[in-house]
Amino acid sequence: MAGYRPPAMDFQIPFCGNPLDREGVRRRDRAWLDERLADPTSRFLPVWQTKPLLKKEPRALAWAKREFFEDIEVPEPVLLGSGDGVAHFAVDVSIAEKPETAFGIADVASFDDLRAAVALMPAADAAIAAQARALVDWHARHRHCAACGGHTRSVLGGANRVCFDCQAEHFPRTDPVAIAVVVRGDQCLLGRGPGWPAHMFSALAGFVEAGESLEDAVRREVLEESGVRVGRVTYLTSQPWPFPCSLMLGCVAQAESEAISIDRAEIEEARWFSREALRAALAGRKADLGAPPPFAIAHHLIRAWVESDAGAIE
Ligand SMILES: [Zn+2]
Repeated sequence: MAGYRPPAMDFQIPFCGNPLDREGVRRRDRAWLDERLADPTSRFLPVWQTKPLLKKEPRALAWAKREFFEDIEVPEPVLLGSGDGVAHFAVDVSIAEKPETAFGIADVASFDDLRAAVALMPAADAAIAAQARALVDWHARHRHCAACGGHTRSVLGGANRVCFDCQAEHFPRTDPVAIAVVVRGDQCLLGRGPGWPAHMFSALAGFVEAGESLEDAVRREVLEESGVRVGRVTYLTSQPWPFPCSLMLGCVAQAESEAISIDRAEIEEARWFSREALRAALAGRKADLGAPPPFAIAHHLIRAWVESDAGAIE
């Protein structure tokens, strides 16, 4: 459509911008990997039951030396990548009991839920933590082959796993999720799920299914959940979402109808909101409407639309 301009997405979205070099080539060299694992300058991020180890003050990743976990039986550390010439690994220490006490770190660091801590962490640390959480969790849940049930082993520094029995390769999952702000003139459609905090509304979202394009997934999800028909879908930006392994694909969708008919199995309520109402909600100035928190891509999709020129998106 002539004159159409999608909203600008020029702000930092949490979990994006991982600064590490993933070492796609050198990680194929087993000798190089072994040297990095033994190198006293290498850094290890302990992850306990999906929670990364974080310094208490200020909140930041707490990198450990290899000696930190040498007294317990852990899976082979996963190579996250290199930064400043130093190899960075994540290591699953879930086997430890009362880990802060066991490791003698209770005064200075703790294993914390990434969702709760992300707002307090440096952006680069949050992105590395997202990679570590997703990879360590995937390895823990894929010790057996989906093809034959045999045992699998980590290869390429944790980039994938191979079955001992049938040699099938298994790659870390990334599940695409379509998430969209649905707009029509000066109105934006948002929904709320069952059990959400009172008054909170967010962008409609759902997994992209087999044999479906991102645009088709947005149209299907919005129609299923709200009864609103969508025409043009424009991709804006994405966000890794390591809970456990999604990639959020943020879009703006142009509605072609307004009547709402919700699917109560998926959402509790859907409503059209004005720019002014959403601007106030994003600023925390609206008692009867809450916006998603800034660590969620939905917050940034809503903000991009609110701050775009009125009329830039029809
Ligand atoms: Zn197998």
